Amino acid sequence: MTTYINHFIGGASAEGESTRTAPVYNPATGTVEKEVRLGSVADVDTAVQAAAAAFPGWRDASLAKRQAVIFAFRELLNARKGDLAEILTAEHGKVLSDAGGEIARGLEVVDFAAGMPHLLKGEYSENVSTGVDVYSVKQPLGVVGIISPFNFPAMVPLWFFPIALAAGNTVVLKPSEKDPSAAVWMAELLKEAGLPDGVFNVVHGDKEAVDAILEHPVVESVSFVGSTPIARYIYETAARNGKRVQALGGAKNHMLVLPDADLDLAADAAVNAGFGSAGERCMAISVLLVVDTVADDLVARIAERMSTLRTGDGRRGCDMGPLITEVHRDKVASYVDVALADGATVVVDGRDPEVDGDAGGFWFGPTLIDNVATSSAVYSDEIFGPILSVVRVSSYADGLRIINGSPYGNGTAIFTNDGGAARRFQREVTVGMVGINVPIPVPVAYHSFGGWKASMFGDSKAYGPQGVSFFTREKAITSRWLDPSHGGINLGFPEHD
Ligand code: NAD
Repeated sequence: MTTYINHFIGGASAEGESTRTAPVYNPATGTVEKEVRLGSVADVDTAVQAAAAAFPGWRDASLAKRQAVIFAFRELLNARKGDLAEILTAEHGKVLSDAGGEIARGLEVVDFAAGMPHLLKGEYSENVSTGVDVYSVKQPLGVVGIISPFNFPAMVPLWFFPIALAAGNTVVLKPSEKDPSAAVWMAELLKEAGLPDGVFNVVHGDKEAVDAILEHPVVESVSFVGSTPIARYIYETAARNGKRVQALGGAKNHMLVLPDADLDLAADAAVNAGFGSAGERCMAISVLLVVDTVADDLVARIAERMSTLRTGDGRRGCDMGPLITEVHRDKVASYVDVALADGATVVVDGRDPEVDGDAGGFWFGPTLIDNVATSSAVYSDEIFGPILSVVRVSSYADGLRIINGSPYGNGTAIFTNDGGAARRFQREVTVGMVGINVPIPVPVAYHSFGGWKASMFGDSKAYGPQGVSFFTREKAITSRWLDPSHGGINLGFPEHD
């Protein structure tokens, strides 16, 4: 019998009115385990109306009450993170330890949100004119929409909703239809933590549901994470509909290795950042820019480490799991042919990997390609799989030129022992998140996450101070308490005395 993954609306599981569904696979076996419901315009409207009805009560709940719910959610999530990790592994395929890491990074944002009253404080100027005070307060927006990608089914929603909720908003989340169960699991946990019904809703779906969110007049803002073409579309469509929008897009992250770097550290970092989560991370390193003089040495050290990696079922203690779908696996694999046709050197070929898992899984092993030309699609496309490309450069300046010439600007890293070069890099590179001897520089929850250029559309990054700013709007109040009462007609600006 088919198991359906329902929406979660108004505090309860909901089938919705749409009859469309999509298969949800276990990528490690290649079998369809469940069907997810694909919401219609009417289903989105039902969720938005539930969120709108719940808004006044949640907005007016005291900061202490909201904080208590966030804190209770934090405790439940921490206690049951093993259950959530299993859901992530079953639907996404990432290995269990990596699923645990994803949840840990999401929990950081919940911790941050639990302390939000401090960041919701406004400002106060006393006596700006005689007897007149001006102050500002931060208020919630109302119903906010969140649309998330397949690669972090728990962490990406957690970048947004704890902050949105702590600020007093109500939420409609549209998770990826490829791995939708984590969102529902978190919705049920929020209810258990004491969140009133309707404050957090999940509508599953595809473009139809997304468009319904983008066009719904009651939705005040849209937070999106996904590929660049869709991020651009979301940004333009949501803005055209008068919404506040932050749309984080795709990436192609470079790691520049200078000759004075610790090559063992750089090789470890390249392997971890290139193949962790099978390269399906927006902060994965996919291009190594290595100065010629150390390139042969570094490539050899990376290849040696790769020979120890085990690909297989995420429940069996492997290093790397499958890719998300068969179509995606085939597309990733096709880049090896492109590399060969473009004259690159395939050092490690992942097309026929030895696997600790079911033969039907969507497998593709870690792949290392040397001598990649920047004119090749292997260099320029976001492959989103475990393919690490090596581009040999002549100098720091040559490497910097390539990075700054990329249309993307999500993350980057420099490996060097030269503090001056690192400092120059930090100043000169046109990328939003920079690592110095750190390959995946995802900022902690009290800084903000977001790229530059085609990796992010909108003004506000995710979480941290910019996240708080995104989910609140400021109101400035000018007040005078009459003592003693005086007035009089004056059509000019008030004069200060
Ligand atoms: P995607 O763009 O295909 O999908 C993201 C979301 O948009 C999903 O919820 C999906 O249902 C919806 N969607 C897909 N096509 C749509 C359409 N035509 N119209 C409206 N909505 C649509 O992305 P994905 O494959 O799920 O995720 C991988 C991508 O996300 C990669 O490009 C990766 O770099 C990016 N990503 C970026 C960040 C970041 O922080 N910048 C983080 C994680 C993932």
